[in-house]
Amino acid sequence: MPGNVLIVDDVATNRIILRVKLSAAFYQVTQVRSGREALAHLRRHQPDLVFIASQLPDMAGLELCRRITARTPNRRIPILITARQVDSRLRVAALRAGAVDVMALPLDDVLLQARLRGLMRGHVTAEERYLSDDAARTLCFADATHPYAQAARVTMIAPSLQKADALRNRLPGRRRAHVSCHTGATFWRSVAAGPAPDVCAVVIEARAPAKGLRLLAGLRALPDTRHTAILAVLEGHEPQCGADALDLGAGDVIHEDADTDEMTLRLDGLILQKQLADRLRLSVKDGLRAALTDPLTGLYNRRYAMPQLAHMADMALNSGRGFAVMVADLDHFKAINDRHGHAAGDAVLREVAQRLRENLRAEDLVARIGGEEFLIVMPDTNRQHAEVTARRLCHAIGARPFTAPATVAAFPVTMSVGVAMGPCAGATTPIETLLTQADAALYGAKACGRNQVTLSQTAA
Ligand code: GH3
Ligand code: MG
Ligand code: MG
Repeated sequence: MPGNVLIVDDVATNRIILRVKLSAAFYQVTQVRSGREALAHLRRHQPDLVFIASQLPDMAGLELCRRITARTPNRRIPILITARQVDSRLRVAALRAGAVDVMALPLDDVLLQARLRGLMRGHVTAEERYLSDDAARTLCFADATHPYAQAARVTMIAPSLQKADALRNRLPGRRRAHVSCHTGATFWRSVAAGPAPDVCAVVIEARAPAKGLRLLAGLRALPDTRHTAILAVLEGHEPQCGADALDLGAGDVIHEDADTDEMTLRLDGLILQKQLADRLRLSVKDGLRAALTDPLTGLYNRRYAMPQLAHMADMALNSGRGFAVMVADLDHFKAINDRHGHAAGDAVLREVAQRLRENLRAEDLVARIGGEEFLIVMPDTNRQHAEVTARRLCHAIGARPFTAPATVAAFPVTMSVGVAMGPCAGATTPIETLLTQADAALYGAKACGRNQVTLSQTAA
């Protein structure tokens, strides 16, 4: 999983050791010595990760970290601070400055590599998120800038409830309201009963790390908790344990004895990441829905309907059962617009869509494929059933007058339908031909006076 890494350190040996470790793992490495050089480099390049020494000749490492974070608020480049002496004050200050973590020199190779893998994985997601937000803004699919108002749900999972409780009590009072405490067993029951938490803090015991690590892998694997962010809370100081947690999908690790500020900052970082990822998924889903549905009626559009029709034709071929293709068109709709106004016309289209839906089965497809034209596909349907249904649809529109918000009296609307029958197994008719047949039948219904159904005579 190679990527571009920028090292900012004026101590040559530190740079060389880090470069050797990174190059061995196939990362492309650029080295600079000062904050100024780093900022100049970042104006032209987009590294995937930045290492910054806590002390630089021209500015503090954390100052550089703050400046980089401020320059790219939408596109956070993960930053790791390196320092000879790491204590809780430095860790908290670094997290506040926007860094992901502080790593002690000399760097522990196992932990470093796991951190890199985790960050590279996460960074690809951040990149996608940025692109998706951009796309969402451009296409107005979703209000991509709207912050999530919902309070995050956090769960502490420990070998005993007392221990989970003690972990929660380490958070500031106002943060405890949305935090629940569980053991592994009670946690899985709670997930089955309600929504999954946004973040789980999972204690990894020093004596028996496998249990906590298994739970962590389970969180990643199950559909309900797949998107839950994970903070691994390490009891011991064994680097391998933190590395395993990161490789199994923990977004961050913390030591059990870390102070309140560090715990809060790391949880907040994960909550933010999780909420941004949620937003990405929602905007993709909304975008997909918007791309495939008609905003006026909520019906599927032509883009969705055509491949779906092809799919239903394939299914019919395999099952040997016939299917019906109908094209329905409102009669004299232009006159309705002219007489009652365009808004009334829109209200009619919405109501027609509703009546069509109410008179079809769940497995039938109904789509708006033109201004006042609808496509209906009915799988598992013979000619007789198709005719009865088409008449029912005609009746559902024509028998009950329509009303529109600004019109005083109800007015009649009628619809004509052309029906073509899809062939059974053994014979194939291209869907274009079926549509042409249904269109021709519709034309026949219009020619015969409208408000009626015509079946294509060329049906198989
Ligand atoms: P026919 O019985 O032969 O189908 O006549 P018609 O008037 O329904 O057909 P025509 O194709 O002449 O007119 C269709 C009209 O549908 C013209 C167009 O302005 C209107 N229309 C298309 N899309 C919309 C829409 O989204 N809202 C409204 N209100 N009108 C629409
Ligand atoms: Mg029409
Ligand atoms: Mg038409």
